[in-house]
This record gives sequence, C-alpha cells and structure tokens, in this order.
Amino acid sequence: MTARPAAILLGGVLLAQQPPQFNATVRGFIKVDAPVVVLTNARLIDGTGTPAKGNQTLVIRNGDIAEVGDAARVKPPEGATVIDLTGKSVMPGIVMVHEHLYYPTGPQVYGQLGESFVRLYLAGGVTTMRTAGNTNGVMDFKLRQLIDQGQQPGPAIDATAPYLNGPNTFLQMHDLKDADDARRQVDYWADMGATSFKAYMQITRDQLRASIEEAHKRGLKITGHLCSVTYAEAADLGIDNLEHGFLASTDFVTDKKPDTCPGQPVGQRTIAALDEHGEPFKALVKKLIDKHVALTSTLTVFETLTPGRPKPPGLDVLLPDLRQNFEQAYQRTSQNQQSLYSTLFPKGMRLEYAFAKAGGLLIAGTDPTGGGGVVPGYSNQRQIELLVEAGFTPLEAIKIATLNGATYLGREARVGSIAIGKQADLVVIDGDPSKTISDVRKIDTVFKQGVGFDPTKLIESVSGKVGLW
Ligand SMILES: [Zn+2]
Repeated sequence: MTARPAAILLGGVLLAQQPPQFNATVRGFIKVDAPVVVLTNARLIDGTGTPAKGNQTLVIRNGDIAEVGDAARVKPPEGATVIDLTGKSVMPGIVMVHEHLYYPTGPQVYGQLGESFVRLYLAGGVTTMRTAGNTNGVMDFKLRQLIDQGQQPGPAIDATAPYLNGPNTFLQMHDLKDADDARRQVDYWADMGATSFKAYMQITRDQLRASIEEAHKRGLKITGHLCSVTYAEAADLGIDNLEHGFLASTDFVTDKKPDTCPGQPVGQRTIAALDEHGEPFKALVKKLIDKHVALTSTLTVFETLTPGRPKPPGLDVLLPDLRQNFEQAYQRTSQNQQSLYSTLFPKGMRLEYAFAKAGGLLIAGTDPTGGGGVVPGYSNQRQIELLVEAGFTPLEAIKIATLNGATYLGREARVGSIAIGKQADLVVIDGDPSKTISDVRKIDTVFKQGVGFDPTKLIESVSGKVGLW
C-alpha cells in the first residue's frame, strides 16, 4: 500500500507534487513511466515566445524538469529511460481556459460528456484547463479529483461552478433572484469544490458585483460571457476575465438599457462595424488593460458558425447521430449568404490581435458548444492555428495557448512553460510547429507530471462514442 501523494498549496491552488498512483484503466493509456526520463536531440519550444532551440536534452525526474540544455552538455543520468527525439519538437502542455465537459446533444439539451472529453483533451495535448461554466453541478469537481488521484486520465482542471445568470431560458441553468442569491450561490459552490466562476448573459450589475466580491473574498476568480452588462461596466466592477474576445461586448450598442441584454446579434452587429483603430475601441482596450482584465479568444466555436470555413477536425470521434447533426448544420451555414459571421469572424480576430498588441493578457479556449462541431483536443490544436491566422507568429500563438493561460490561472510557477523546476507537462510533436503551425496536430506523446500518455490509445477508447458519455 503506497501513501497518497503529498500535495502543496500554492496561491490557493492545490498542486499534486508527484504523479499519482494510477489504476489499471489509466495505466492502459501510458507509454512512458519511469523515475528518470530523458528526452534527447529535441527541438525545444519553451512557451515563453523565445525562438525554438535545436539539439536539446531534457531530464525529467519524479515528474519535474530537472535539467534542460544543449545535448552536447546535458548527459543522461545512469539508468534513465532515454528517448531520442531527433526530428521532433517538445513544447509545453496546452493550458486553455474556455473548455467544457458538456456538448449540445439535442434541442435545449447539453449532454454531460466528461468521461470522453477529458480523454480527448489530454490526447490533444491539454494538460491544464479551466471549465468555463458547468451545466451539471458536481461532475467537473469529481472528475478533477479522480484525475488528480490517478483514477481517470485527463488534464488538471480548474473547475467552475454552475453559471451565475439572471432569469434565462436555459433548461440547465439557475435564475439568480437577487444579489443575496448570487452571494449564496458563490459560497455554496465554492464549498462544494468550485475553484472558479462564470457569469452569464442575463446577470445584472448588482448580481455581478455581489458575485465578484464573494468570489474574491475566497481568493477565486470570475469570468463572464456577458451581454446584459457591458465589458466596461464589468471591468469597473472588478471582473477578472471576459470570454469570446470582443464578440460578446454590448459596449457599442447606442440605445442599450442597463442590466438588459439587447440580444447577442445586436451587440455583434456593432462589433462587426467597429474600427479597431478608432478611439471608442482603443478606450475600451485601455480600460481592460488598466483593470487587469484578461480576454479569452475562442475562435474555434465562431469558426463553426462562419460560412466558407474548413470543416473542423475530429468529427469522426462523434456518435454517428451527432456527427450527422453537425454536418447538416455545416451545410446550412455554408449556404447562408447573409451571415453576419462572414464579417464578424475576421473582425473578431483583428480586435483580439489589437488587444494583445496593446499589452492585454490574451488567453485561449475552444468552447465546445454553439451548434456542435467543436471537438475537444482537436479544437485546442485548431485554436492555436486560428491564432496564427489572426496574425500572431506560431511562437506567440503557442505562448498564448500555454504560458498565458497558466499565468491567468496563477499556476505559472509550476506549468505553462519549459524550465528547470517546473512540472514536466510536455507535448512531443512529430514536426516543427514553430515554423508550420499545423504540426501541432501531429502529437506523438503527451507528458503530464512526467508520465507519457499515448494520444492514439486515448482517442481509440472513445472513438464513435463521443455523445454517450
Ligand atoms: Zn462556453
């Protein structure tokens, strides 16, 4: 009987100090597990945005990066498991912040697909993620715990509470009654295990203020997919993060009534017409930066709504009915000549780029909701490609998808980049994503806390069944 792994509390975040004891199911997905693992002759992309380095050797000891440097200098210790990565690259495990453990499976219904999704996320290179809103209650917390204990494969999870929203038409979402109710909800779900919060489209300023105060009292962060409250109002109230780039902003709706969502498309028409060089947009960017509000790019979900875009990757892991649903939606989208997204999608990219270049903290997520077609793991790789399409260099896009996410989550001391002393959360890629970003799809091995997982086995275990569980 082995003792449970020790854990340390750092900045309010519980971090496992060493890899957990895995059960037989998880062991079935592991291809590298040894006390000392050495990756030699690798191209190193460290996640900080600095240029890739060739011929690097990494020494992983007890789950942490013990040494990294030129292969000519760093020699494998005696008895180590040595893996030659000639021609391959190593980058940090992906850290993304707008993930979900649910998926639209029917009219008004989000199916809870946590079991398959955590496998797909890990297979796609995601080693840490935040679920940005939950529609089930406790599953996000339980899966986080089971993964930490080695009973399920998957990324480390910053688990959100159920959405904080005003009166709404979603079947799986509570209606906040008032500010006191908001405080009660935050306290209750924090006690239940939530480590972050998400406000939604119909929340009032009073309810949002109360939610922010209560979350911050407990050292927890809160993000929002807003509509009833503008980005500027939310920044003034102290929100930590805003979702969907600028595509959920209602700041530029001229006759907007306070505390009321004018309708997402109404806000989006003003965003599609916004000048990224104009003063109104620059003033909003300055406010967000001054108030330290991070912005999450979720280009993947918007791409599925935009005519003329390639089909998203990963559709063949879906249950055949769900795949067919999306294929039909894709056809309808491609025939929609009037779609606002034809202008909104490229504009959204330019606005996010401008925010980051002005000094804002841009982070990334995928949002497997919308009308379907955003498939975890595959979508995380696609999101990095889309950041490059938005104008970032491959190295900048990789930093947004790794170190920026870790920085927002307050976990950057342990994850998000490759450095001595950090946790060995690494993705081995059969190619060079520092030059050809689509190489992020060619994942060979995903290391989490120094343990190497086989992406092919993880995907095979759920293929054709994503939609059932
Ligand atoms: Zn979402």
